[in-house]
Amino acid sequence: MKTINDFNFENKKALIRVDFNVPLNDKFEVTDTTRIVSAKPTIIKILEDGGSCILMSHLGRPKGVQDEFSLGHIVETVKDILGVEVTFVNACVGETAEAAAAKLEPGQILLLENLRFHAEETAGDKAFAEQLSKLGDIYVNDAFGTAHRAHASTTIVAQFFENNKCFGSLLAQEIESIQKVLETGEKPVLGILGGAKVSSKITIIENILDAVDHLIIGGGMAFTFVKAQGGKIGNSICEDDKMDLALSILKQAEEKNVKVHIPIDTIAADAFSNDANKQTVDINNIPDGWEGVDAGPKSIAKFHDVVMECKTILWNGPLGVFEMESFANGTIELGNSIAEATKNGAFSLVGGGDSVAAVKQFGFQDKVSYVSTGGGAMLESLEGKTLPGIAAILE
Ligand code: AMP
Repeated sequence: MKTINDFNFENKKALIRVDFNVPLNDKFEVTDTTRIVSAKPTIIKILEDGGSCILMSHLGRPKGVQDEFSLGHIVETVKDILGVEVTFVNACVGETAEAAAAKLEPGQILLLENLRFHAEETAGDKAFAEQLSKLGDIYVNDAFGTAHRAHASTTIVAQFFENNKCFGSLLAQEIESIQKVLETGEKPVLGILGGAKVSSKITIIENILDAVDHLIIGGGMAFTFVKAQGGKIGNSICEDDKMDLALSILKQAEEKNVKVHIPIDTIAADAFSNDANKQTVDINNIPDGWEGVDAGPKSIAKFHDVVMECKTILWNGPLGVFEMESFANGTIELGNSIAEATKNGAFSLVGGGDSVAAVKQFGFQDKVSYVSTGGGAMLESLEGKTLPGIAAILE
């Protein structure tokens, strides 16, 4: 696996696919800079080598050229975060972009206009990718968030760089974190899956069964397993058409010697609302008219013990409706347990969608080993898929 550390960028122009698809408010100010901050180590290493950086990214989903999606809006923020002057060019291919790239001196940074102003980007158009490739000497992919897309700048462009292509440090870290969990992780390995639906996580469960020793199934999706095993779940969220599958997953887990942990109790609410009445009940005996919305104390204690026993931990999906303060406790307590295990030397990866939001909301991001920057890309990796953006560098 070639990374930026395998190259000396002196006098080289690095064409870097970054993920600067950041949220903007109505004044076009960046409201979450995580993605820009995450790209900094790669950019700085290249500049320190004596190279220059041409940064390319998409922003939002524009239909053709739309000023509100211009990457020009984020230049100042990028400059502030990197601490280096950044020149913006309002094109990403063609004469203007090529002239701006040609003028670039070592130590300088050029930010190209939104790649998705051209429909060829998402279409993975080869001629468009070839035009992009003319801008740099070495192609660096550091955009994990789009690595699951076979777009021109994430995948196709790599064809034009033969041996001069590599992963940026962010993308390399993402790949290594996934490998640590699914392939090389110190045992016991624990997978924790929560969230609303079994249906969106089936492929992940089936894939990680080969890698984990323990599997915690929590959140809304646990109720499909509980009902499938004969439990009474009241109004709890459930996918009846997935009950057979739930039983087959439990069987597969048993055959593979994976210990599955399902909640023992739950906080049940009489309405899906923060001020609903609530009570703690046995997971198999939820009264009619009540629904399970958070992990109960016995489940939290059980999950804590499992977490503390494991040396490698993957967490995807909250244990309850954490967006409502009244039902966030299970997710927070699980975060605390994972933080404690991490402090004791376990490797912990949080990835994919809402668990990342929860980890940030409750301040756990510095207390776990790694928080993934890519939602869809992380989910597809956990499903065992080879991401096109990663394959294109390895080819
Ligand atoms: P996912 O995107 O599949 O990870 O699901 C995340 C969502 O699951 C969050 O919005 C949570 O509010 C929701 N969730 C977690 N536990 C429950 C539950 N017991 N009942 C309903 N929704 C839940």
